[in-house]
Amino acid sequence: MRKGNLFVISGPSGAGKGTLVARLLERVPGAWVSISATTRAPRDGEVDGVHYLFKTDAEFDALIASGGLLEWASVHDHKYGTPRSLVEEHMAAGDQVILEIDVQGAFQVKEKDPDAHLVFIEPPSLEELEHRLRGRGTEREEDIVLRLRNAELELSRKMEYDIQFVNDDIDVCTDELVAYIERQATI
Ligand code: 5GP
Repeated sequence: MRKGNLFVISGPSGAGKGTLVARLLERVPGAWVSISATTRAPRDGEVDGVHYLFKTDAEFDALIASGGLLEWASVHDHKYGTPRSLVEEHMAAGDQVILEIDVQGAFQVKEKDPDAHLVFIEPPSLEELEHRLRGRGTEREEDIVLRLRNAELELSRKMEYDIQFVNDDIDVCTDELVAYIERQATI
């Protein structure tokens, strides 16, 4: 059995984290991605328990109070957090555990588990990021502005991560990310 490892994947909204994670789940044996809890409303097509665990503010606060979250943060005016117990179970089972979370959450995880590997996914440029966010068509204008402002804040902390990958070409970036995870998993 391989050793369980914790990988945190952060990067601005629109950097392509979701696609990268979906691809690495298919390629890395024993890879498992945590489903976060959030107070954000579901977007069209998002399913409770698949994309997120959608919670009311009161439900989310109860999760915090019971110690049920490994980390949590307010991102783009909503709360997001990682349920603790499944992460611990999958680590113990020797899986490669993936958390797709923001920079605030990433540093909370690193503080609790210094062995966690922090991976930052960068867009090729802020212009390209804006283009992708608008092309996605899932956000209102004010949300796009908020996400772009937040992107600059997130990018300012990228050098505090263990490794950074630029997602210019999704195939190349997937290969780099998979190779990195495989390398850590076999150390
Ligand atoms: P979105 O609303 O686009 O799904 O996600 C917005 C941001 O919240 C993304 O940057 C994502 O990484 C972050 N996020 C998602 N789940 C979590 C979580 O469990 N904890 C933290 N800290 N951030 C999260």
